[in-house]
Amino acid sequence: MTTTISAYAATSATSPLTKTTIERRDVGPHDVAFDIKFAGICHSDIHTVKSEWGPANYPVVPGHEIAGVVTAVGSEVTKYKVGDHVGVGCFVDSCRECDNCHAGLQQYCTGKGGNIGTYNATGRDGTPTYGGYSTAIVVDENYVLRIPDSIPLDKAAPLLCAGITLYSPLRHWNAGPGKKVAIVGLGGLGHVGVKLAVAMGAEVTVLSQSLKKMEDGLRLGAHHYYATNDPETFRTLAGSFDLIINTVSANLNMGAYLNLLRADGTLVELGAPEKPLEVPVFPLIGMRRTLAGSLIGGIPETQEMLDFCAEHDVTPEIEVIEASYVNEAYERVIASDVRYRFVIDTATI
Ligand code: NAP
Ligand code: ZN
Ligand code: ZN
Repeated sequence: MTTTISAYAATSATSPLTKTTIERRDVGPHDVAFDIKFAGICHSDIHTVKSEWGPANYPVVPGHEIAGVVTAVGSEVTKYKVGDHVGVGCFVDSCRECDNCHAGLQQYCTGKGGNIGTYNATGRDGTPTYGGYSTAIVVDENYVLRIPDSIPLDKAAPLLCAGITLYSPLRHWNAGPGKKVAIVGLGGLGHVGVKLAVAMGAEVTVLSQSLKKMEDGLRLGAHHYYATNDPETFRTLAGSFDLIINTVSANLNMGAYLNLLRADGTLVELGAPEKPLEVPVFPLIGMRRTLAGSLIGGIPETQEMLDFCAEHDVTPEIEVIEASYVNEAYERVIASDVRYRFVIDTATI
């Protein structure tokens, strides 16, 4: 037995998203069922539906920034009850047995197939997973997050991917007082990164393509803002950062950015462009710099991030849209014309 619900799906790499129906499984003993209220649009949704990361399994119902209200819980569920505000991020399950799963780093699950993506993956029951551009979802309670009461559900949604993707590396590489942090790209990820790094006490610089978003960047709390289309920026800032977080969805001139790190500094790559990055070695070896990567965050850290955001009043800047606007929203994200995260009101599906 399943439940039929409405969703938006892409049926090929080149077709627009259209309205459809999908099936959700019945609530098992360990499951939480919830009505999705809002779903954020992440650039990863776009990479996936366009098969930029390899052929997708169509139909794809994207959406891994999901916030809603619990409607039913299984007989064994202890963490949630009907009416709770909850969220789901980029994965809905993992092997639960590997070292990383035991350490709460489910995003780095080394079990067969790794973590089970919220969409474009195959669930434990062998059926395709479908994401948040839909009206309801059923997820094992261990992969559900609690959304603090003080964060409205529309603003909570983007925290489930953009929020944790920035929180985890900022914490891992110790962003805080006395640390100079640069955030490259002021999009969905980047703007949350600015707010989080400022809340952690770091000195924060935005590196955006142009000066167009300068007022916003400073309003979000950044201490400095530079345009990367001005070559002078790379001379002025040479050797100045402890940590650079790159959220750009396209290929950058990596050498130019590595040169902005001081000795022993780290550049963390978060953006996932279709083509490999080209990395010149001299900016790395000359100053013992590190080039690193980071993928979202595990369940315990995602909960920690949500609680941190509630405590420090960190919420994304969003534009709530109707589901029928999703294809135009995609075009605007691709054109870097998003201020700063589109969130679908799923009541309009
Ligand atoms: P987004 O909202 O589109 O933001 C990306 C920003 O990058 C843009 O707003 C723009 O900022 C800058 N940018 C875009 N094209 C550029 C270009 N050609 N040259 C220089 N800068 C450019 O996307 P997002 O949702 O934040 O996602 C960003 C990337 O992170 C995507 O590749 C996504 O797949 C990836 N991602 C990774 C993880 C992870 O766990 N590692 C998680 C989520 C997303 P400015 O206008 O300020 O320059
Ligand atoms: Zn995402
Ligand atoms: Zn595992």
